[in-house]
Amino acid sequence: MLFKEMGLSSEILTAITDMGFETPTPIQEKVIPLLVEKNRDIIGLAQTGTGKTAAFGLPSIGNIQVENNYPQLLILSPTRELCLQITRDLETYSKYIKGLRTVAVYGGAPIDTQIRSLKRGAHVVIATPGRIHDLVRRNRVDLSHVTMLVLDEADEMLKMGFREDVDAILAQTPKEKNTLLFSATMSPEIATIGKTYMTDPVEITVGQKNASADSVTHLYHMVHARDRYIALKRVVDYYPNIYGIVFCRTRQETKDVAASLMKDGYSAEALHGDLTQSQRDYVMGKFRDGNLSVLVATDVAARGLDVNNLTHVINYNLPDDPENYNHRSGRTGRAGKEGIAVSIINMKEQGKMRQIERVIRKKFERKPVPAGAEICERQLFKLIEKVHQSEVNHEQINPYMEKVNSLLEDLSKEEIIKRFVSQEFNRFLDYYKNAPDLNLSAKSERENRSDRSERGGRGDRSDRMPYDKRKPSSKSMSRVVFNLGKGKGVSKIDIIDLMVKTSGVKDLEIGQSDIFKRASSVEVDSKFLKPLIAKLNKKNFNGVNIEAEDYYEFAGNDFRDRNKGPRGKRRSDRRS
Ligand code: AMP
Repeated sequence: MLFKEMGLSSEILTAITDMGFETPTPIQEKVIPLLVEKNRDIIGLAQTGTGKTAAFGLPSIGNIQVENNYPQLLILSPTRELCLQITRDLETYSKYIKGLRTVAVYGGAPIDTQIRSLKRGAHVVIATPGRIHDLVRRNRVDLSHVTMLVLDEADEMLKMGFREDVDAILAQTPKEKNTLLFSATMSPEIATIGKTYMTDPVEITVGQKNASADSVTHLYHMVHARDRYIALKRVVDYYPNIYGIVFCRTRQETKDVAASLMKDGYSAEALHGDLTQSQRDYVMGKFRDGNLSVLVATDVAARGLDVNNLTHVINYNLPDDPENYNHRSGRTGRAGKEGIAVSIINMKEQGKMRQIERVIRKKFERKPVPAGAEICERQLFKLIEKVHQSEVNHEQINPYMEKVNSLLEDLSKEEIIKRFVSQEFNRFLDYYKNAPDLNLSAKSERENRSDRSERGGRGDRSDRMPYDKRKPSSKSMSRVVFNLGKGKGVSKIDIIDLMVKTSGVKDLEIGQSDIFKRASSVEVDSKFLKPLIAKLNKKNFNGVNIEAEDYYEFAGNDFRDRNKGPRGKRRSDRRS
């Protein structure tokens, strides 16, 4: 099917030609005709990268009556970045439609400016749920004429706790409207939203349900938890042209990994929720423009980052939620390119990996961590390629050549090449000379468990998180660790109080607890561990955004002692 056979207006078709879209993507083929002709409610199970924005955007823009100066199309998106990306896309689609106004409203920016924009008139409002709910409460936006509502990345909105806002917003919109819901995956919550707010929705799935894109290869390296960081460096070094995202599980880990990479001379930055909006914009801009090789990010912070040519996604840690793996790996292998998702895992994460394999319906392929010699070879060829591609400004360099030639007269061509290559390359060879094999041998895999407990006593008690490997005092107890300690003026009683209040369990059983300078570790009844951790992670206490983890899962993640090279050599001058 062609775009021009879909009933879209000539203004929209011209914009499509300008954008260089030749044929509709599968989701566009299915969704556009339904919206142009029948105004059906739709549940679209599709990931970012499938062309879903144009699938709902092109026909819905065509249905706007520009002469009526009120919001007719409302699009809800979970994050500011996605909100802005959709706005940019819709502005492009509608550039030949005279007088059509789109306004984006989102948190983290002055509400007054947004109110003024809305006042000037908006046919399309693209919003994050919290901010538009706020505007509704202040009576600053009129949703009573909305004819089409789009819930984009609905699964993310629910995960981020926007359900109440969504309910309140929807209550303000007319009953007879067209509702579209897009989600990467189907879940019971999504089905409930479908039942509650939609009329006889058509379910459209692009590719397999919950399946990951075919263009992505899923690899994993299995290493000791303590080697995670050096394994990451090997992966980055093994792909000299890497342009990728390294996903971490917590903000702190994101900061630590990015700081270590920067210190080790890599072109990397961190993207996480503790950055101010302008810092986030700066980092994202730098990455988008290709001025960073590696972005180290949390799942939430990376949402909405519209970069389509990533070569790699690296899972420094596997996500807890297999669906997040789908989101992560779906960021590579886009726009007709091949992508690689590399996961660095330790023995005890194999179960999690198998669970993800079931969800994405793909097998992970185990690969050995690249050896030093392989990396050196790859980097060397990259250097040679660079030499081939170098542009020579003959005019500027010629005046020096006579002198240069005479200074090098005593060396043969082979010798000159060797020496130039060595100039660039010696640091690399040095770093990887005697680099250890990081792969777990069958024997060490067998011994992994006892090995892990042997290293347990080594932890520095003033670390951000306690490297605490003691077994809980009884089988029914588990241990939570979090980033709040004496340094923030909290006492043991405060910590216990925090556990009880946060869990909401009055008689919560608490075992051994320890407070360190920047962290604490508390034993609690295992039954309540997971909900407690989830609630703690949403809390701010004495100015600290709490990051809590199950210490068994956490304990494997310590890389602090290992973030230097085999000889502690820094390579800060290696990369730009
Ligand atoms: P989305 O899934 O909406 O995030 O879109 C992913 C990317 O695909 C965006 O960069 C779009 O500009 C691009 N795109 C969408 N539809 C098409 C199409 N029919 N042909 C080529 N590229 C497209």
